[in-house]
Amino acid sequence: MSSSSDASGADGHRRVVVSTRNRGKLAEIQAALDFPGWEFAAAPDLGDWVEPEETGETFLENARIKARAAHERFGTAALADDSGLEVDALGGEPGVYSSRYAGPEATDDDNNRQLLAALANVPLDQRAARFRSVVVFVDAEGIETVVEGTCEGHIGTEPRGTGGFGYDPLFLPDAVTDRTMAELEMAEKNAISHRGAALRALHDALARQRA
Ligand code: IMP
Repeated sequence: MSSSSDASGADGHRRVVVSTRNRGKLAEIQAALDFPGWEFAAAPDLGDWVEPEETGETFLENARIKARAAHERFGTAALADDSGLEVDALGGEPGVYSSRYAGPEATDDDNNRQLLAALANVPLDQRAARFRSVVVFVDAEGIETVVEGTCEGHIGTEPRGTGGFGYDPLFLPDAVTDRTMAELEMAEKNAISHRGAALRALHDALARQRA
């Protein structure tokens, strides 16, 4: 049974504002949190939205900055994720700097080249890495639920595949044999990905809260 404060969307639906520009992410979040009556909107589609600067030093800090900014701006429930790649041989880098590893304007290709260069002398059995995603959900009253998901794997020696984004062409997930993340179908990726795991954990946590 939802409380009246749930009803912050149109027609008594529960609106969740997602702090992202990424359409794929919005669709993935929507599919994962398929509670009756919930509706999702991307913050940039609601107008007058200034994206907050991601000044945090951890995925949690950045996800919280983005979720809190949307909650405060729109007064509804809000959700944000922050994610990246951690490479053991590089002491966890690029981590929160994943999107800017090769510089502030870096493209995915630039970042992948930088990563291959950093690991040039590291043998495959020492190239363990993981994607990590932290999701912060803030309800209409401002109460937080925080979840996390990881996807373990290795960094390959050359890019392969055209799917996905970011470091996917270099990432060999332990859960599949001899294919990079960029060689998987979208549904296969979602089933093993860090964000998929975090969203399933969030679904279960919210379902428990609603029971
Ligand atoms: P964001 O938090 O989703 O914006 O991701 C930050 C950065 O982490 C991206 O720019 C990518 O470089 C990397 N990243 C996060 N998730 C993935 C993924 O699923 N595949 C490949 N790279 C990712």
